[in-house]
Amino acid sequence: MKISIVGAGIIGLCTAWALARRGHAVQLFDQAEVPNPAGSSVDDHRLIRHPYGEFDAYVRMVDEAYAAWERVWADLGTVLYAPTGTIAFDAAEQGWAAASQRSMHRLGIAHEVLKPAEAAARFPHLRFGAAEAVLYAPSGGVLRAGAIVEALARHLSAARNVELHQNTRVEAVEADQGRIVLADGNRIDADTVVVAAGPWATRLVPALAARVTPSRQVVAYIEPPAAMKQLWAASPMVLKIGADSGFYAVPPVPGTGLKIGDHRFSLEGDPAAPRELRAGEAEALMATAHDNLVDFSGYRLVQGKVCFYDVEPEERFIVEPLGSKAWLLSGFSGHGFKFGPVIGEKLAAGIDGALDVDALKGWAAGR
Ligand SMILES: Cc1cc2nc3c(=O)[nH]c(=O)nc-3n(C[C@H](O)[C@H](O)[C@H](O)COP(=O)(O)OP(=O)(O)OC[C@H]3O[C@@H](n4cnc5c(N)ncnc54)[C@H](O)[C@@H]3O)c2cc1C
Repeated sequence: MKISIVGAGIIGLCTAWALARRGHAVQLFDQAEVPNPAGSSVDDHRLIRHPYGEFDAYVRMVDEAYAAWERVWADLGTVLYAPTGTIAFDAAEQGWAAASQRSMHRLGIAHEVLKPAEAAARFPHLRFGAAEAVLYAPSGGVLRAGAIVEALARHLSAARNVELHQNTRVEAVEADQGRIVLADGNRIDADTVVVAAGPWATRLVPALAARVTPSRQVVAYIEPPAAMKQLWAASPMVLKIGADSGFYAVPPVPGTGLKIGDHRFSLEGDPAAPRELRAGEAEALMATAHDNLVDFSGYRLVQGKVCFYDVEPEERFIVEPLGSKAWLLSGFSGHGFKFGPVIGEKLAAGIDGALDVDALKGWAAGR
């Protein structure tokens, strides 16, 4: 089959990778150079982790994701992943961390429940505040996002059945015709079109705006005091997700810095607008770290950055037919990177007719 993909972020690239492996002829279009620095799939890292609140389906999907990443590493000839382990806690007795623990217990995923004092002794750079218990999982780690996107783009550019068109904006998708219209007016016909346009997708599919909201998110790179550097080098990732916190910290792995962010959605902003930080934004994010990191006054802000989520209200992924000859992939809600390869593989199976459409939609939505 001839397939056009709009968007060469992790989702479009992985879909191209999976379709090409099945022998299809793929044309991949991106409005920018790949990696697009304004895309959601770049920066140094993205996390993969088992704690997922009550979402058993996404916990299971994490295992499928790990297996799919192995196939990516084999094709790329390199492993762009660093295991770190995962810490999750929150102040609520029956909050997100407790729900994650129950889910991991149900599904037989290795973990420990630590008393806060035990956790503080084991991870002396972290503060656990009012947490009743701390969830530790040996699984989880850092996917080297920007390096992965670059490596996939290089790998696909060398494939005989993939054409990567950079700096080529798609102006419109004619979903029932399997056609895309480029900004220069050229029309390209295919058997199927895949729209994987990240936070810009609502421009191509206006009806999607009723279901998915671009959400401007701020992250900050920080430098720990000298005495903390070794502790961070061996640190698990840190998630304090709850009603009043979306704090996460990504430990530095070789070639990257220590990053903090807030997973709570801003639900505002235009992905096409300039990405400058507003005054005080990075400092405000720093303040959220204050309660969670020991000796925080010794930390230094290195750099703040802006990135976009594409938020579906229940954080469920949208992988579904669009008209009769297209597919729409959206709603990755700040947790889609880790699933790129497995989503690509499942969609490729769906396009081939090897996977039922409703089963695929339900699987992607975590149902
Ligand atoms: C700060 C931050 C932290 C995150 N942390 C995690 C994490 O820890 N773990 C995790 O799993 N996920 C995480 N995510 C989410 C994850 O990064 C995204 O879900 C994922 O990268 C989305 O990929 P995508 O391919 O859909 O979008 P993008 O990477 O944005 O790619 C879309 C591409 O489409 C192109 N495009 C758009 N419109 C057009 C058009 N009209 N014509 C041509 N090209 C077009 C764009 O240029 C872009 O390159 C995080 C996201 C952010 C912002």
